[in-house]
Amino acid sequence: MLDTRFFSDEMRKQLLEWWQIHGRHDLPWKRGDVISLGASDLQGNTFELDPYPIWVAEVMLQQTQLNVMLPYWKRWMLELPTRADLIFACLDKILFLWKGLGYYSRARRLHQAAIQLGDEPWPRTLDAWMSLPGIGRTTAGSILSSAFNLPFPILDGNVTRVLARLQAFSMPPIKAKTLFWSWSEALLDREQPRDFNQALMDLGALICIPGKPQCFLCPWQEHCSAYSYGCQSKLPVKGKARESPYKVIGVGIVLNELGEVLIDQRHNEGLLGGLWEFPGGKQDPGETIQATISRELKEELDIEVEVGEELIVLNHSYSHMKLCFVVRLCRMIAGRPKPLASQQIRWVQPEDLDQYAFPAANAKIISALLEYFQDKNSIPIL
Ligand code: SF4
Repeated sequence: MLDTRFFSDEMRKQLLEWWQIHGRHDLPWKRGDVISLGASDLQGNTFELDPYPIWVAEVMLQQTQLNVMLPYWKRWMLELPTRADLIFACLDKILFLWKGLGYYSRARRLHQAAIQLGDEPWPRTLDAWMSLPGIGRTTAGSILSSAFNLPFPILDGNVTRVLARLQAFSMPPIKAKTLFWSWSEALLDREQPRDFNQALMDLGALICIPGKPQCFLCPWQEHCSAYSYGCQSKLPVKGKARESPYKVIGVGIVLNELGEVLIDQRHNEGLLGGLWEFPGGKQDPGETIQATISRELKEELDIEVEVGEELIVLNHSYSHMKLCFVVRLCRMIAGRPKPLASQQIRWVQPEDLDQYAFPAANAKIISALLEYFQDKNSIPIL
């Protein structure tokens, strides 16, 4: 294994030279508004960038790939171009802009953090950024180095992979976080942290990729322990995957005589907070799916329904569990719906459902419902 003393100036120079030619220089949040110039000009790296677009991008990138998040980021910046716009935006709008990105707690925390910051000057310390909701050390380090060119290391998935291979590290990196942080810190070019961190991420994203890295193009080939042992494809070592619990969810699509569908909005706190959904819930042991849907709709909405034909069955995996949604069309036979377990309910025309932010799994339910209406010539017969 390489000692950190071997993280030399030569390595930094090689990486930055590679990056000047092959790096990703077109990330729009890294070409954003320059908020102040230092003694030098843009070429001299002493300028500062507006942290807001960088912050939004970093939070979106926490669990989403660049090519997926880019259109979302562009739309977000058009709708909420400044921190003040985010502070005064309603949560419904924020969740709608996030619709499709998943892990909606990121959007809620971004909003909370903007409110917490208020109109204070942008923080310039790791602690200050990390005290905000949804900001870990990597996100904080990336914002500080990208916006203000301050010397803070980062340790995202790309950087972790590069380091694990450089050091031919034989354990899962998750078990040695402190060590990996110390390596990232030792590697960092303290004169050019903005470019260096970006170059390190780009190396991981473009060359030192998962599976089969492109070592023949790598500026660090001669320094890489994994390459010299020929074990680069086996690294980083993965930890044992945990078995996710599996749950069946009964979902009721309640339609009225106008062809409107009943949806409810989850409370803002907790998993998928603030999102809209079709009512339903977890099947109890030994319960039929009809009984589950009837029970859940009584508990959640205080209505009695006749559970009709199946609309769709779909599986969806979250990071911590696997769900199977069994979706049935329902007819209300008694009661008036009340939001007993949600913040509000609404009757909505199916073609207007795309105006609401739903969890990712619901997109297929909505498509199935729209197809059902087309097949049945609009109003369903239950
Ligand atoms: S030589 Fe290969 S494995 Fe090593 S850092 Fe470069 S791309 Fe990654």
